[in-house]
Amino acid sequence: MRIGLGYDVHRLKTGFPLILGGVQIPFAKGLAGHSDADALTHAFMDALLGALGEGDIGSHFPATDPAFKGISSLLLLRRVMDLVSQRGYGVVNADAVIVAQAPRLTPHYSAMREKLAPLLGITPERVNIKATTTEGLGFPGRGEGIAAQVVVLLQKNTR
Ligand code: MG
Repeated sequence: MRIGLGYDVHRLKTGFPLILGGVQIPFAKGLAGHSDADALTHAFMDALLGALGEGDIGSHFPATDPAFKGISSLLLLRRVMDLVSQRGYGVVNADAVIVAQAPRLTPHYSAMREKLAPLLGITPERVNIKATTTEGLGFPGRGEGIAAQVVVLLQKNTR
């Protein structure tokens, strides 16, 4: 068994789509970044790479590389999962928390789970998504950005 932790933050800006867990969420602002700035999917990738002892997404997919500009983070997650498989591991389960003052994310949990689970090779029931506000405190509370944290558990394939 190997455990990994991922954490990511992106800035909220007008004129960008809000994409979390591969799901576009209607909101006045979106997340800005080099890729599609999907902070939740980025946290999943960092958790997986962490469990493998493989550094972080910055070293695998450099923000300076034009190939990753505007790219769907789900495609990058697929590449990270290829690495997980190559190393002989599979995902047991994952748990995520999104830190955002707004919008309300509860209605989108199941869509995120349905998007992420097939990529992770597990059932949606094994990908828990939840969210919290910070009661107005700090950068998420002021609506300046959205953060995401993920833990994943990997298990060595016995086949
Ligand atoms: Mg990121």
